[in-house]
Amino acid sequence: MNIPEIFGIDVFNDEVMRARLPEDVYKSLKKTINEGKHIDFEVAQVVANAMKDWAIEKGATHYTHWFQPMTGITAEKHDSFISPTVNGGVIMEFSGKELIKGESDASSFPSGGLRATFEARGYTAWDPTSFAFIKDGSLCVPTAFCAYGGQALDKKTPLLRSMEAVNKQALRILKLFGKEDIKRVTPTVGPEQEYFLIDKNLFDSRKDLLLTGRTLFGLKPSKGQELDDHYYGAIRPRVSEYMKDLDNELWKLGVYAKTKHNEVAPAQHELAPIFTTTNIAADHNQITMEVMKKVAERHGLVCLLHEKPFAGVNGSGKHNNWSLSTNTGVNLFEPGSTPYENAQFMLFFSAVIKAVDEYQDLLRVSVASAGNDHRLGANEAPPAIISMFIGDELEEIIDAIDRGNAYRAKSKKVMKLGVDAMPDIPMDTTDRNRTSPFAFTGNKFEFRMLGSAFSISDSNTVLNTIVAEELKQFADQLEKADDFNGALNKLVAKTIKDHKRIIFNGNNYAEDWVIEAEKRGLKNYKSSDEAIPHFKDEKNIALFESHAVMTRAEIESRTEIMLESYVKTINIEALTMVDMAKKEIYPAVNEYLLTLGNVIKTKRDVCPDFDNSQEVSLFKKLSDINNKILETAKFIEILLNGTAKINIKAELATYYRKEVFNAMTKLRALTDEAEGIVGKEYWPMPDYTDLLFSV
Ligand code: ADP
Ligand code: MG
Repeated sequence: MNIPEIFGIDVFNDEVMRARLPEDVYKSLKKTINEGKHIDFEVAQVVANAMKDWAIEKGATHYTHWFQPMTGITAEKHDSFISPTVNGGVIMEFSGKELIKGESDASSFPSGGLRATFEARGYTAWDPTSFAFIKDGSLCVPTAFCAYGGQALDKKTPLLRSMEAVNKQALRILKLFGKEDIKRVTPTVGPEQEYFLIDKNLFDSRKDLLLTGRTLFGLKPSKGQELDDHYYGAIRPRVSEYMKDLDNELWKLGVYAKTKHNEVAPAQHELAPIFTTTNIAADHNQITMEVMKKVAERHGLVCLLHEKPFAGVNGSGKHNNWSLSTNTGVNLFEPGSTPYENAQFMLFFSAVIKAVDEYQDLLRVSVASAGNDHRLGANEAPPAIISMFIGDELEEIIDAIDRGNAYRAKSKKVMKLGVDAMPDIPMDTTDRNRTSPFAFTGNKFEFRMLGSAFSISDSNTVLNTIVAEELKQFADQLEKADDFNGALNKLVAKTIKDHKRIIFNGNNYAEDWVIEAEKRGLKNYKSSDEAIPHFKDEKNIALFESHAVMTRAEIESRTEIMLESYVKTINIEALTMVDMAKKEIYPAVNEYLLTLGNVIKTKRDVCPDFDNSQEVSLFKKLSDINNKILETAKFIEILLNGTAKINIKAELATYYRKEVFNAMTKLRALTDEAEGIVGKEYWPMPDYTDLLFSV
């Protein structure tokens, strides 16, 4: 196979545009893409027509505005290109108007009350910076989704706005360093995506997987991940076939799928793309998740993107690698080799330190969900406490700046910021700490708390905005300074002094860290219901409003939606659990008890003097467990009935965690104990060994 030849063949990318658009139209569109210039209607008209012709040649019959409502997945509404003619026939049409703007009733998408207050309908608006592509015979046009009042109803709009915000402030800083030639700063992202693959037949026979994406029951198998023999191990043929097919499909769609390997848990794998501009990376990650699932079906597999499909083995996350890059191709988090570059680096670097410290809550909220609650702080993923790992070398530099001393590197070289060059920062020493939620990895930051099923939009909207805010504060000060170098040195030193507490290079999984973090005054929102309400803290509303990323109404509606989704998720899980416990597990245990009882009776008949106390006690124990299973299932039903009385969303969410989820944990402990006793043939669903070791 010739990869360059298939790469992007289903994408209306730069090459296609150049070939198919008149030169002036192409140039005008490029201006829109590269500089955010407004698009002319005439240009859109020509682009739409060219897109349509190209799509039809590739067999497409429909087009759809492709968008990311707040459910976190993508949505599409397909219209065919056909347009009736006077003589009863059809022609294929796609107008500039249809390209730029789509009407969408879409009233079932969550809006957190936004649409009710403003307008019943929403519309989608073309994002020309992300290429259109063909999927399943439809031309997909990436769009933003807004209410008629302009309020964002999706995850992309705030992301695009945050990219503008960080661009604007970063350019101000770069100007101070004399970089007048730089016209645009773009945040870049490379998200590493973890996932599980299991057999489709097994998946289909488990209601919990089918309805909730995770196993609500299941005894840990005798072999889990303790041998670490799966991590980076040889990829099995069936999986390998899947991965090849997946890469192929992604390449055709212009996704830079790059690395693939086995992860720690059995049946767990990872795919990482080459990084790109944030909004495109977000679109590509959505496509990747969708294609992962679709390709799996072709191979008789199911791809699980849930954060914790199996208890007792690692869950799946997403590492969000983030940096800032200029239109001249410079990575602003590359420390550089000259004193001047280093000073600029340190300024941007300290902006991130300050941002992460001051907005720990927002970063935490951006990774909050019922699914991710199973991972964060469970010794497989970072804790719920945000801290930053920066590596030894940088920590020493920062310590020296903090103490007002010159930094003395191992080479005995003394460094003064802006005067001397920093020692080289070897990539590998900055990449060792895998337990850190937010690590500097040599030339980018890796935010490791995202859940595998997440859209990366929220975390990046937060990252871009909080860094924009700190850069703004820095620019406000430095633009006024008479002695730029002096002011810069002071600013970096002060920032480090004030925000050093966020830096932690130790083991984030250790219990002492929780205590230490508390002493430092760092936030620790252990669960989503604790974290989410802080999204609308006044300081956060002020932040988003001042950078025109989100309005108060948008933030409030998003808070509601997040809490609602948390509650709904646990509610569905609870109902599924009760159903399975009552209709599948309880009867199955009884079947086994019947057999066991018959054995006991028969033995008594055949040899009355035989000691069957073991069997009798097993019988009693299992009967007792089964009673409790029934009892706990009923108790969960009562708890669910109790939810109707609670009107405040945040309180309801806490009720679900404290009451409902706790009872679910109890029920699971009982069924797992029963599973350990009941004969395999009697157990009503495939067990963990079947699920994890059969592919
Ligand atoms: P690891 O598993 O060690 O974290 P990977 O190589 O799997 O590393 O993933 C690293 C990710 O970081 C890749 O997606 C890569 O493209 C991305 N990346 C590299 N440089 C940058 C950058 N400047 N900005 C954003 N992402 C980057
Ligand atoms: Mg990583």
